[in-house]
Amino acid sequence: MSTPVDTLLIHAGELLTARGGSHGVRAAGLEDPELISDGAVALRGGRIAAVGDTTTLLADCAPAETVDVEGRLVTPGFVDSHVHLLHGGSRHAEYDRRIRGLPPSADQPAGIAGTMAHTAATSDADLLARARGDLHVMLAHGTTTTEAKTGYGDGIAEELRLLALSSALDHPVTVVPTFLGAHALPPSHAEDREGFLDAVVAAVPEVVGQAAFVDVFCDPLGFTPAECERVLAAAQQAGLARKVHADQTADVGATSLAARYGATSIDHVDFADEDAIAALAQAGSVAVLLPGVAHHLGELTPDRSGTVAKPHLPAQAERLIDSGATVALSTDFNPGTSPTPSMQAVLELAVRLLRLSAPAAWHMATINGAHALGVADTRGSLEPGKAADVVVWDVASHQQVTHRFGTNLVLTVYADGAPVVGRRDP
Ligand SMILES: [Zn+2]
Repeated sequence: MSTPVDTLLIHAGELLTARGGSHGVRAAGLEDPELISDGAVALRGGRIAAVGDTTTLLADCAPAETVDVEGRLVTPGFVDSHVHLLHGGSRHAEYDRRIRGLPPSADQPAGIAGTMAHTAATSDADLLARARGDLHVMLAHGTTTTEAKTGYGDGIAEELRLLALSSALDHPVTVVPTFLGAHALPPSHAEDREGFLDAVVAAVPEVVGQAAFVDVFCDPLGFTPAECERVLAAAQQAGLARKVHADQTADVGATSLAARYGATSIDHVDFADEDAIAALAQAGSVAVLLPGVAHHLGELTPDRSGTVAKPHLPAQAERLIDSGATVALSTDFNPGTSPTPSMQAVLELAVRLLRLSAPAAWHMATINGAHALGVADTRGSLEPGKAADVVVWDVASHQQVTHRFGTNLVLTVYADGAPVVGRRDP
């Protein structure tokens, strides 16, 4: 007997499932994608009812609606696991000076402090409108799940305002909120570092039920490992999962610290050494790589002295993969160092800058991203029972998405089973 379903997508040239084991897709598995030719996927009640080849699903399913995708690529939606969604202002003028080798303008605060000032001056309504606009761009480029970090609050009250706004977004993109109180020392606390950290630690129990994660920026540009450990210990005590921005501009031991605290994800890890990578893999933490930052800043990576050693990106990616760790890709969308909300752009940059194969990049941007965000039970791959977050592409192969840079190749996006973006009917 045929099973009733809402929508049946048929005749996918390639259907990439991104199915993985309990820790995502790792090591040699990254190069071995499950691709179903003449694939089909059935959607029912916002979930995936069945995945297989077109002949089988046409026989098994009684769809209310059948969509022939005419040989196109079908994949899960991207899961973007490292996103500074809530912010005011833009740092384009600062970038324009930096790219020409000029120092930041003296009459305005630069960097994260500059964004904190812009954010404080932006109303709740305007922050929500801005974030919803960015979510729509993400969706149009194939992202169906994202993180929303705080981190641009000038003080704890502002941080809690941003966290509350992340719950009020009400958008087809699934949003996972993260409390990043220890991002940078706010200008209002410039003379009171200890007091600010006390306030972050004290706020951690308050964000239970509002934030899925507590994050810290453990780097010479952020907070020291000892300072971050106070926040991570508070998060662990409160039963909140941890994330860490680790060793982005120098090796300060942040990756090992994060592994010790069982962080769900450890992000950047540009300068993590072999021992730290082994600890990360052993802890089962996901390493999140952010090639948008390397692309956008290049040799302009900001630090206090004006120069910084450059990580060797392909070698570090290879070390992480060879360690057996789960590795994910993300935008690091933020108004300064990686101002793109497009995971499609990140895939293109990842294969070029990290020298990844197309299948590896796809696994890292879907199921492994879901592991980095703690949502792999319900999102990140095309498997029966998971949310029906499905993208139909206007190309036939997953390799074309990593090849044809600079243009949006999405045809249709289904979020929780509903067609929310469509350039035209396939
Ligand atoms: Zn970040």
